[in-house]
Formats: sequence, structure tokens, C-alpha cells
Amino acid sequence: MIKTTADLWQKGWNERNGGNITLRLFPEDVAPYLPGWSVRSRVPLGTALPELAGQYFLVTGSGKYFRNIAIDPEANIAVCRVSDSGDDIEILWGLRDGGVPTSELPAHMQSHHALQSIPGNADRVVVHCHATNLIALSYVLDFNTANVTRALWEGSTECLVVFPDGVATLPWMVPGTAEIGTETATMIAKHPLVLWQYHGVFGRGQSLDEAFGLIDTAEKSAEILVKVISMGGLRQSLTTDQLIALARRFDVCPLPSALNLQRWTLAPSA
Ligand code: 13P
Ligand code: ZN
Repeated sequence: MIKTTADLWQKGWNERNGGNITLRLFPEDVAPYLPGWSVRSRVPLGTALPELAGQYFLVTGSGKYFRNIAIDPEANIAVCRVSDSGDDIEILWGLRDGGVPTSELPAHMQSHHALQSIPGNADRVVVHCHATNLIALSYVLDFNTANVTRALWEGSTECLVVFPDGVATLPWMVPGTAEIGTETATMIAKHPLVLWQYHGVFGRGQSLDEAFGLIDTAEKSAEILVKVISMGGLRQSLTTDQLIALARRFDVCPLPSALNLQRWTLAPSA
């Protein structure tokens, strides 16, 4: 968690308290410490998630600065447990000087719930950050899942292989609510990345490395697209046939709506 939050800070994607992370811990991770911990406080989840009852999560604190996590983890992150009823999250360790888990807890916990409902899914990490170029693209691309996915696949050859299921797009909503949590969870179950318009991105993975690498790959492609658009736009790009050849070589099944697009488009001028 320290390594990932430090990397995110260095990347410039987690200014001030921007962004948040939840990592589901294995029971054996926490077992040695449980005798020394008690429930220090409870925070309502907003939406009851009884299926997650008893699960442990390492979470970033609301309003806590990512750049300070490496310096003082105990003040800025927390180990939490979902209560037996699934209504609340119980703080067991951390947030030493007070505070609560991230305000985006509804999006994180509903996403964990949605991911655990998929047979065989082993994702236990959800990362939200304010990746600069992905946000920038949400101001200029036709903002729908097929178009943004297609643009990002064309922005760098590795992208279709790394995220064949594409990037879901969520039109602007007020953050930190149960509603944005529900929309995000529905999308993240089908697509590994969810782009919140004018705000940031959610990524998932089996490990912190995997979730970070996924966002890093999409953001790199977004940076290239921002440069290309700034240089006057495409003169040439990956073709559908080339994307199909990539999918064959790396044995992935790309999102059909994005593969079937002839080309990605900018939103009409305001
Ligand atoms: P928190 O500090 O509550 O995690 O909020 C940061 C953020 O990025 C909200 O979307
Ligand atoms: Zn945010």
C-alpha cells in the first residue's frame, strides 16, 4: 500500500487527498493482530452489503494526503472489517489522529461486492485516482464506452491486450454517493476500468500491482492521444484489421462495440 500510494503520488495522479484505494485482506493477514485490536468506530456503508460481512479491508482515509501515507501510514490508512450485518464498516487499526475511510467507500465496496459475485473472479483491489490525461480526454472525446475504448486501444499497441474488455464511461455525477457507487460497480463488473467524466478513473485487479499497471497503461495511452490531438489530430492510426491481428496473437476477445467502430471521434464543438 505504501509503495502503490507513493507511486501514485509521484505520477501526479493523487494531488492533495485525491484518489483512494481499498485492498481486501486475507483472514490470515490480519489474524496475528486481531487479539490487540478492538472496534474503534463504525461508519455506515450507505448500502447494506451482507455478502461482505466479516471481510477485512485496508483502506485510505478520507481527506488524507497520499504523499503522507509513506511517512505515517498509521495516521492516513486503516484496517477495517465489514460488520456482521453488512451495514457498517468497523475501524480496527489506523486513522490514529481521527477520521473516516474514504468518501468513495460506496463505490469501492459495491465494486468489491459486484466483483465477488462473478464466478472465478479473484480481484481484491480497487484503485481510484485522478489520472491527468484520462480526465483531459473526457472533455474532448465522444464520451461513450465504445469510443473511449477504441481511442485508448489506438493510443498504444499494448492496450487492447491489457484491457480487451475496455474502459466504461460514466457521465459526470456527484462523487461520494451511493448512486455513483452503484453505477461504478455495475460497470466495473464488465470492464476493468471505469472513467468518471471530468473526475478520474477506477481500476481493479487481483493485486495492487495489477490495478496500478492497468491504470498506468491506460493513462500512458491517454497521454499519447492528448499529444496527437494537440499536434493537430490523427494522420494515421491502428486499423481494425491490426487490432484483430493483435487479439488473435494474444488470444483476447476485444469488446465488440469498440472493435466494430471504424474510428474514434471527438465530441462536437460546444
Ligand atoms: P477521499 O479523500 O474521501 O478519499 O476523496 C478523494 C476523492 O478522490 C473523491 O473522489
Ligand atoms: Zn476522486
